Amino acid sequence: MPQAVAYATPSARAPFERTTIERREPGPTEVLVDIAWAGICHSDIHTARNEWGEAHFPLVPGHEIAGTVAAVGSKVTKFAVGDRVGVGVFVDSCRECPECRSGREQYCSGGGMVGTYNAVGRDGRWNDGGYSTSITVEQDYTLRIPDGLDLAEAAPLLCAGITLYSPLRHWGAGPGKRVAIVGMGGLGHMGVKLAAAMGAEVTVLSQSLSKQEDGRRFGAAAYHATSDAETFRTLRSSFDLIISTVSATLDLDAYLSLLVVDGTLVNVGLPEEPLSLRAGSLNGGRKQLAGSNIGGIAETQEMLDFCAEHGLGATVERIGGEDITAAYDRVVASDVRYRFVIDTSTFGAEQG
Ligand code: NAP
Ligand code: ZN
Repeated sequence: MPQAVAYATPSARAPFERTTIERREPGPTEVLVDIAWAGICHSDIHTARNEWGEAHFPLVPGHEIAGTVAAVGSKVTKFAVGDRVGVGVFVDSCRECPECRSGREQYCSGGGMVGTYNAVGRDGRWNDGGYSTSITVEQDYTLRIPDGLDLAEAAPLLCAGITLYSPLRHWGAGPGKRVAIVGMGGLGHMGVKLAAAMGAEVTVLSQSLSKQEDGRRFGAAAYHATSDAETFRTLRSSFDLIISTVSATLDLDAYLSLLVVDGTLVNVGLPEEPLSLRAGSLNGGRKQLAGSNIGGIAETQEMLDFCAEHGLGATVERIGGEDITAAYDRVVASDVRYRFVIDTSTFGAEQG
């Protein structure tokens, strides 16, 4: 069994500890990936803090994984040793339901997608995620990272990138569309870059103006503070599409008022508490409230290729394994510019 060094949290809200885990020898259609970088997604934090219900501990989170192929199974055709690859939020699905067959594995109706961590894999064991030095994954759930992308900057694309790319494409972000991105954290900053690259007119709605310069650099044409009540008066009926990446409860009525007639508010944030709204906020303007979950494998590859073509990566802060616990607090405080990525070369060699 290949061994990996990992960082695990033993219980909800406990500090991360260095540990050793076992990975599978790659089966016939699997690849063993040497992980170089793993992003810290706010979903890792919701999970590790039991904000979405009881998680399975010890927990090794991580679903923004970039590295190189170290070994391949006998029937692997898509990858060779040395290839630059990524692994995202899920590592398997039923492969037979209409969603899997149409490349929408993230909505698998035949039992659901199998999460990269905090889920039971095909081998009947709880999956460990990307805060580790290696992972064994099916070739069909492995992505190719184009040469032009830096691996550290590519890792966050596997969740943050695709989570914004998919709804931007689905709701037609492009020239002539006015798009607002709410919350400029890990997901939000990728939303700004992607929507701008697609040709949309992008506005950032952030709690303050402190990150305004960065937002403009990422491609935003306008930037407003949501802490200023004037923002909601000035921007009334201004957007065709609003995507909220906020990790906390949101005043949906206020944001719906910023849509034009027939506009759509897509909420991709997954706060601990339920959201609520007044029915009139939708009815008065035939507005739509929607959700979206990451993206399928083919669409994730399309997103990576799009990013390479447009020279887009995540803006990252590189940290070591010992920094993960402190990084979680900084993410929750909106104090990250704009995604932490963990350098697994800081983990040290496995013992025994
Ligand atoms: P993040 O880096 O923490 O960014 C969230 C941003 O939301 C913050 O940077 C902040 O932006 C804003 N925010 C935070 N607390 C707020 C509050 N109380 N009021 C208003 N705004 C607030 O997190 P992330 O990794 O981008 O993830 C965001 C959310 O999406 C999480 O809930 C995560 O679980 C979820 N998620 C969903 C999917 C999906 O497929 N649907 C995928 C990945 C993650 P400003 O500082 O600019 O105000
Ligand atoms: Zn994520």
